[in-house]
Amino acid sequence: MLTVHSHGDVSELRFSTWRSRSVGFGVSAFVVRGVLVDTGFPDCAGDLARYLRASRPAGCIVTHFHEDHAGGVGAVVRAGVPVWMDARTAQRVCAPAPVGPYRRYTWGSPGPVGAVEPFAPPPALSCIATPGHADDHHVVWDGATGTVVGGDLFIGIKVRGAHRNERPRALVRSLRQCIALAPVRLFDAHRGIVDAPIPLLVAKVEWMERTLDAIDARIKRGDDDVTIARAILGNDWVTRVFTAGDYSTESFVAAVRSEP
Ligand SMILES: [Zn+2]
Repeated sequence: MLTVHSHGDVSELRFSTWRSRSVGFGVSAFVVRGVLVDTGFPDCAGDLARYLRASRPAGCIVTHFHEDHAGGVGAVVRAGVPVWMDARTAQRVCAPAPVGPYRRYTWGSPGPVGAVEPFAPPPALSCIATPGHADDHHVVWDGATGTVVGGDLFIGIKVRGAHRNERPRALVRSLRQCIALAPVRLFDAHRGIVDAPIPLLVAKVEWMERTLDAIDARIKRGDDDVTIARAILGNDWVTRVFTAGDYSTESFVAAVRSEP
C-alpha cells in the first residue's frame, strides 16, 4: 500500500503492507526537487511502479542498501528512471546477500534489478556520506531550503537495538555533521517530517555518547555483551526473538566492542 502526503515542496511516499504493519513497520520515500529519494521495500515494488507511471521523477537517489530503502530499485530501473547510488550500495542492491526470515517476512525479497542508468543529482541537492547505521549511508541535503532527507540517520533518540555491523561511534560523527548543516527540516524514513530537528539530533548524540561511555566502561571491566546489554540497554526479548538475535541490544554492544 502506498499513500502520498504533501509537505509543500516535498512529497512523502508512505509504504506499508499488512505484514509490515503487523510488526509495526512502514517506511517512507520522498520526492524533493523532482528527485525520488529511496524506493520503499520489495513487497511494495508494484505500488512504486504504478506511482512512477503517473509521476515520473527526474532521477532517484538511494540512501543505503537496506531492503526497505532499496527494495524498489528494480521498479525504478524498469521505469527508465536513472539512479544515484554509492558504489557499495549498487553492488549490494544488484547482488543482494541473503537476509534473515524476519526481514523477508516484513519487507519481502528483493528481485533482479537490471542495468542501472546512472543519475547525476542536480546541483541543488548534495549526497553526503553519513556512515554509522550502514557504511554506505548517505543523506540528501537541500541547502537552499535547509532540508535534509535523512534515510535512517535519525529514526529516534534512544534506539537501543542495532545490527552487529552498525558503527555507533561513526553514527555520532555523522549526526554531528548533520547538526552542523543547521537543517530546519528533516525527513526521516520511519518518522516522516521532523520540523526543527536540531534539538532532537542533539538529544540523540547526547544519549548515544552517554550510552557509549557506559558500555566502554563495562567492556574495560571485562563484562560480556549480554551482561552489558541488560545493565545499560534493557531486555528487548520480543525483538531479539523475532529477529533471531540479529537486531538486539546485545548486537548494539557487540557493534560498540568491534568498532575502533
Ligand atoms: Zn536502514
